[in-house]
Amino acid sequence: MFPRPTTARLRRSRATGPQAAAPIAVLAAGTMLVASLVASCARQRLVSQHPLRMSGVPTIRVRLTSQPISIATLTSSSGYRLWADGRVVSESAAAMPDTTVRRRGEHWLFNSLEVEGRQAMLEPLDGMLRAGRTFYRGRLHLLAEGDQFILVNHLDLESYLAGVLAKELYPYWSPTTYRALAIAARTFALYHIKTTGVGRDFDVGDDQASQVYGGASAETEKAWQAVQATHGQVLTFGLSGQERIFMAQYSACCGGTVNAASVIRDAPGIAPLEGGQACTDCRYCPRYRWGPVRVAKNDIYRAAAAAYPAVTSLGSLASIKTVAVTAYDRPVWLDLVGANGRSVRLRAEDLRLALLRGGAGGSRQLNSMNCRIVDAGGAVEFTDGRGFGHGVGLCQWGAQAKADQGWTAEEILGFYYPGATILSAY
Ligand SMILES: [Zn+2]
Repeated sequence: MFPRPTTARLRRSRATGPQAAAPIAVLAAGTMLVASLVASCARQRLVSQHPLRMSGVPTIRVRLTSQPISIATLTSSSGYRLWADGRVVSESAAAMPDTTVRRRGEHWLFNSLEVEGRQAMLEPLDGMLRAGRTFYRGRLHLLAEGDQFILVNHLDLESYLAGVLAKELYPYWSPTTYRALAIAARTFALYHIKTTGVGRDFDVGDDQASQVYGGASAETEKAWQAVQATHGQVLTFGLSGQERIFMAQYSACCGGTVNAASVIRDAPGIAPLEGGQACTDCRYCPRYRWGPVRVAKNDIYRAAAAAYPAVTSLGSLASIKTVAVTAYDRPVWLDLVGANGRSVRLRAEDLRLALLRGGAGGSRQLNSMNCRIVDAGGAVEFTDGRGFGHGVGLCQWGAQAKADQGWTAEEILGFYYPGATILSAY
């Protein structure tokens, strides 16, 4: 039996949309395309191949530290159990005081307690954990990476969503917008649990590269109400009885046209992520129009090389060429060209994220890659900017305007993911 449909098939807002330009497959002589540059998105399916049916609320594993760290301060508000490589090394019915965690060789140091192991786990007997200033539900896993470590929060998917909605949406926004995003965010998370998370130690991160998650500290009553009102509901795509979840991405503000998933993923297109819908409802977003933004070529080179080592083959950055755009003129693929004539091809959105992560001067104002890229001598100018984020799927500012106009959560989702169906996964 397939899970019970909770609504009729969503309203199909449009029959077709403009196709994004196909990525350039043939590279110019001398162009260097490094497999790792596109490995993260190579032929990734947008639709999960796994059956939707689940027996209960799944656990999600959220990586809390995008980079390995050397020290963390952990606390438990209740009794706790501390594990290392599968064995209990400390247990108490009393709350855990502030505990500083470090690595020393093959050992963990929990204040003065030294324990051998690669993996550790802090489990509250009742209540919450705190890492730094943030409270978390569920358990905290500590995974060694060299002489550093990463933190991964394991918790039930519904509680996770309460910590996401309150970070992704403004507190004053409509409960309808919260419910629409709860369904999209649940779908996005479940997709990663079933696909990209398999075979690695986490399913999603806690920042804009996946969904912003602020732990239990971020939860609000409005967020919890939306999570509970949509319990288990996900977006699916496919023939009746064969529906699968898909990567239901969303962004802050599309800037006027919803983007195709091909701007961020090299995947066979599906109707819900085809993009092309006109969405001027997001015009109240302060970043609906922006720019120009100037970023020094040296800063671009440094940040891109830090994210993609192949970029170092350029020696320095001479120019950026836009080599493929969508039907609505958004850059999809770029060539970074060095003074030595060599070039490295990158997805435009990947370059933006690399600039943000690398802290390139001015990149914080680079709200999207929905812009024109102009050479300005020692700098690159990003002009005619539109929107904030990748612009694929639900547009948060547009959804909020639609909610204010009386649209239901189902109608909003039907507009941004045409052809999708809402089903209960559990
Ligand atoms: Zn929009």
